[in-house]
Amino acid sequence: VDANIVPIDGKEPGEQNLIVLLYDITEIRRLEKVRTDFVTNASHELKTPVTALKGFSETLLDGAMEDKEVLKQFLEIMLAESSRLDFLVNDILELSKLEQKQVPMNMQEVNLSEAVLATFQLVKQTADEKEMELNLLEEDTLFITVDNSRLKQILANLINNAVVYTQESGKVTVTIRKENDQAVILVSDNGIGIPEDEQDRIFERFYRVDKARSRNSGGTGLGLSIVKYLVENLNGSITIKSKLGLGTTFIVRLPIQPR
Ligand code: ADP
Repeated sequence: VDANIVPIDGKEPGEQNLIVLLYDITEIRRLEKVRTDFVTNASHELKTPVTALKGFSETLLDGAMEDKEVLKQFLEIMLAESSRLDFLVNDILELSKLEQKQVPMNMQEVNLSEAVLATFQLVKQTADEKEMELNLLEEDTLFITVDNSRLKQILANLINNAVVYTQESGKVTVTIRKENDQAVILVSDNGIGIPEDEQDRIFERFYRVDKARSRNSGGTGLGLSIVKYLVENLNGSITIKSKLGLGTTFIVRLPIQPR
């Protein structure tokens, strides 16, 4: 709490009054902390691929490049680290644009099932490699007014996570239903799940339940923060239900016809 004390003259001669102003700055402090944490984490995350790129290129120049096999192997690692850097920078820029509300929403009528099926195509290869099933359960046929590319970004993030954080032969099911004037999209998997005490935190920037696993799977740790921003910018909400070892369901609610 911040306080200001202002002395003022009272009605009677010689009488002094004090006005004490108390400001609740909890929220301001929290937002400041979110911001500084973000800069610290972003720098740290960016440093990892940069350090790798520097190290591998130095080693190559120090003579390792004479060996054709080593050269190829190192270049492949450097390419992967560059992609990582690229994803990170893109996600960081995306978040900062979203924060400044610089994202124009291009609203149009979209068939929700078609959007889900189109998103399945993006993860089909990974799902096939892991012999996973992708199912769409259309309880209601829904046309919603939404920014189509933003909707696909939300779906792609959630469905990709469901595939990544589920073991081989697992199953991902997207259910679509209408509840009052809202479209409800449930993205369910029977994968590794998320411990109860971490479920609130996974929407935080860079928060990961298992850092190593997430990095290896190409994740930046920013996907769910972006999803949450997008859903909220579309006047919707997102919640999670998960049981460790059993699976996870993300529940997205979007207005069918935003005002
Ligand atoms: P990442 O790029 O690491 O996947 P996200 O913001 O998309 O970042 O997700 C944050 C973390 O939440 C992940 O690192 C993972 O630990 C956890 N998570 C997200 N989706 C799932 C899921 N379907 N099942 C289990 N854990 C998940």
